[in-house]
Amino acid sequence: MRDLDVICLGEALIDFVALQSGVSLIEAQDFHKAAGGAPANVAVGLARLGARPAFIGKVGDEPFGQVLKKTLDDNGVDTTGMVLDPNARTGLAFVSLTETGERDFVFFRNPSADMTFRPDELAEELIPRAHILHYGSISLIDEPARTTTLRAIELAREAGALLSYDPNLRLNLWPSLERACEGLREGLAHADVLKVSEEELYLLTGIDDREQAAWELLDQGIQLVAVTMGAEGCDCFIPHAQVRIHGHHVEAVDTTGAGDGFVAGMLAGILPAWRQGRRPGDLECEELDPICTYANAVGALTTTVRGAIPALPTADQVEAFLVENPMGV
Ligand code: ADP
Repeated sequence: MRDLDVICLGEALIDFVALQSGVSLIEAQDFHKAAGGAPANVAVGLARLGARPAFIGKVGDEPFGQVLKKTLDDNGVDTTGMVLDPNARTGLAFVSLTETGERDFVFFRNPSADMTFRPDELAEELIPRAHILHYGSISLIDEPARTTTLRAIELAREAGALLSYDPNLRLNLWPSLERACEGLREGLAHADVLKVSEEELYLLTGIDDREQAAWELLDQGIQLVAVTMGAEGCDCFIPHAQVRIHGHHVEAVDTTGAGDGFVAGMLAGILPAWRQGRRPGDLECEELDPICTYANAVGALTTTVRGAIPALPTADQVEAFLVENPMGV
């Protein structure tokens, strides 16, 4: 029985976000503690949109890991597959927004609990219960988390689930650019649905033309490629169609989590058809268009409040926003 919509597998971290904007991490003095980690954000995003998500991953059994579990629980995410390890420490990320609007990141992972997630800790029984498995590339960087992620992917594939991948590139976590490209491609090899930035698209394909690169990935068997472009919205490709949807105009205060909000919106949009066995690659252009508009709206709303999880909108908020802003600008 598939009583879960999406399992989000990977890292849950605590982000310490600099309270001052326009500063580097050297200059920042005060930080706000926020639950984060892309797969955890996507899980909360999906719950707010009314889907039934679960999170699978490992944190430390200390206050930071406990806060993450509580945040997911309070948001209605199934955490039965979340491991709290008394011998490990939750990953921490310190983040500031520099003057140029870029995010300055430092990760504390020496190693962090998510990196030490072992195959024997994987709640295998959860996987066949879900329609979709969503994963990223951070859990593919280090062993044993990499083997655990690949095992989950294998089980999801055997169970007939759809595989959704957001590489979520963090170059400084990889030992080299070459290993990053290999790792990003390892995740890609199993994906049905892909959300990428233009930089990731280039690293995945070696092609620096967005459209050509996306068509190349569809030729390789990916069913749906969504290229997100910040305020400009997204370019979405399926084998027989391409839709370009402009972003919504909002007063953006913090773009953290916009991509995760977008993924939550896109998966929530794909789910009704997929539950009936219709593959994303077989959607009509007229169906893809509102899915992308919806995902853009979730992404846009996520930028209007500081932090990722506090900003992720509910289904009612997205619907109300779309009544006022039916199309992107
Ligand atoms: P990521 O956070 O993964 O880098 P993007 O920055 O491309 O991803 O953002 C994902 C989506 O969120 C975009 O496709 C867009 O729909 C929305 N979005 C992001 N930034 C803005 C913005 N400043 N204004 C409106 N929408 C935005």
